[in-house]
Amino acid sequence: MTCVEQTDSCISCLRPTGDRPVRMNNGNSLCRECAATAVSTKTGLRNVINQVSRYLERDMLMNINTKINFELVDDLGKPIRSDHYRESGRFIRRGNDFTIQILRGLSQPICIETVAHELAHAWQAENAPYLSGDELIEGFAQWVAGRVLTGMGYSDLVVRLHYRDDVYGRGYNRLMNMEQRLGFAGVFREIKRLGKAP
Ligand SMILES: [Zn+2]
Ligand SMILES: [Zn+2]
Repeated sequence: MTCVEQTDSCISCLRPTGDRPVRMNNGNSLCRECAATAVSTKTGLRNVINQVSRYLERDMLMNINTKINFELVDDLGKPIRSDHYRESGRFIRRGNDFTIQILRGLSQPICIETVAHELAHAWQAENAPYLSGDELIEGFAQWVAGRVLTGMGYSDLVVRLHYRDDVYGRGYNRLMNMEQRLGFAGVFREIKRLGKAP
């Protein structure tokens, strides 16, 4: 508790940074472990986006046709919903313009998770635009992020998705149940069905 109260929390993993935090130029702190792989440049982010996009297209057959503007940001502003622990990324749609903001300094695996989550929102905006309910919307994005983490060799991080006690955790578990009932391809069919124009 002393550690939680007296040291900053890591912008990437949210755990206390301990007694040797790494402070970024923008004032945010990272723990040593996250700092070792932190994605803090446009080139670094571009590499993650390329890896995740390739995985989504080849292994999950998720193609996104709209060109997406990616921004690496120092601050995502206030959370939209009160039960957000905190966001590491944001998908913003203005008409047909898609923007994804990613927080600077996320560790490589958490950046992969966040990019996958936000790209899932972009896919959903194209393929299931009328999907409603935070649990389904965030659950689908978390489920995609979990698949990508596992596929890219970070399955040890997936357990975090399962144990969250908020709309993300409830949504993730709901999607896992959906996958058990309907299978992998069935999840996409169901999300498209639920989100199609009335
Ligand atoms: Zn950390
Ligand atoms: Zn989301």
